Amino acid sequence: MKIYRSLLFLGVAALLVVAQENNSSPTLHPFTVIRAGAVIDGKSDSVRRNQLIVIRGDRIESVSDAASAKIPTGADLIDLSRATVLPGLIDSHTHIFLQGEDPAQGGYDINILKYPLALRAARATVSVRRALEQGFTTLRDLETEGAGYGDVGIKEAIEEGYIPGPRLFISTRAISTTGGYQLEGYAPELDMPTGAQLIDGPVEARKAAREQLSHGADWIKVYMTHRSWVGKNGELVSQPTLTVEELKAIVDETHGWGKKVACHAYGGIGLHRALDGGCDSIEHGLDLDDAAITQMLKQGTWYCPTISAYYHDWAPADTPDGQRDRKRAAVHEVSFPKALHAGVKIVFGTDIGGISWSEPMAQEFPHMVELGMSPMAAIQSATSRAAEMLDMPGQLGTIAPGAYADVIAVNGDPLGDIKILQNVQFVMKDGKVFKNEIK
Ligand SMILES: [Zn+2]
Repeated sequence: MKIYRSLLFLGVAALLVVAQENNSSPTLHPFTVIRAGAVIDGKSDSVRRNQLIVIRGDRIESVSDAASAKIPTGADLIDLSRATVLPGLIDSHTHIFLQGEDPAQGGYDINILKYPLALRAARATVSVRRALEQGFTTLRDLETEGAGYGDVGIKEAIEEGYIPGPRLFISTRAISTTGGYQLEGYAPELDMPTGAQLIDGPVEARKAAREQLSHGADWIKVYMTHRSWVGKNGELVSQPTLTVEELKAIVDETHGWGKKVACHAYGGIGLHRALDGGCDSIEHGLDLDDAAITQMLKQGTWYCPTISAYYHDWAPADTPDGQRDRKRAAVHEVSFPKALHAGVKIVFGTDIGGISWSEPMAQEFPHMVELGMSPMAAIQSATSRAAEMLDMPGQLGTIAPGAYADVIAVNGDPLGDIKILQNVQFVMKDGKVFKNEIK
């Protein structure tokens, strides 16, 4: 019996050795070569023609001139020789748990009041798939809008390979103050749920940040302004929410964890508090005055303008809401070029989810270009610049050795017509082809 047992042990040990050897065998590391007609690498301002991109496992191994390089033996060859190849795109402001809020279908509130969390999670799996299909291989998702820590689960499902989707940087519940987030307008006797976690005072602020960080938030999202309207002198006014002290507690806590804080801020008092409190990125920034731009430059604050979102669902022109909607877009059209020419660091963000996921995410590019950004800079804002903001420079948003093999391709030249990016025909994430419609 003893002998039998030791034989069995040896047998199992031998099987383990075989399994380990199989694990290290090269067949488990797909080895792929892309022949690219043109490469926009996300970082450089010039386009390189006729390149060979060698991919091993989930990383880019080399990029070289196809004329001089030899195609290594044993590699799968992907022919994109008539296409323009770019790094996977990064959308720095999304909401995978929102679905466009058609007022006719119950608007924002129905999400929280009627939809089971499982339904919202199921719809979020469709959102992330949609993003990946369009060439967005990374998202910074800026809060779940009442779906709690649902984004932690979706991120895990993508990473474990259960569902296809981009790599996610998530912010979980977001933070605002009493009177600073919906649901609103219900009987005061009712204790309504809210889309964000509401805090009052620096102690509660820090506690909320700690909770969210401990449950997996990669970023903390803070609402520094809430309602907005047109003021007596025709200016855009925004209601401020957190105090500087409250925000400072959040920023201090979050920076201690080595993470960053994104601040929703339209303008005025709330935007200045966001900057005084040390936030890392200003979201929307509709109304940036000169002092704000100077402070952003000094502090190295990122600007994620989300222009497209403000051209959707305008109320009728002769209503207060309609005037506010038009004013938002009008001041944004002044702020964006001012920030751009002053040299503020700009990242691409759509606020998709606020906009229906059935719409193209790349609709933000033409807005940026129309307001004075070069097509190359707009592409970089959705690639290497965003990677820098996400503390992943050289790893995301670039076609270069050592970067993750997140690669997309389009037919035609997006520098000549930026709208071409609305038709991404090849998508690879982590070295695996997700979609290839290049003819
Ligand atoms: Zn948003």
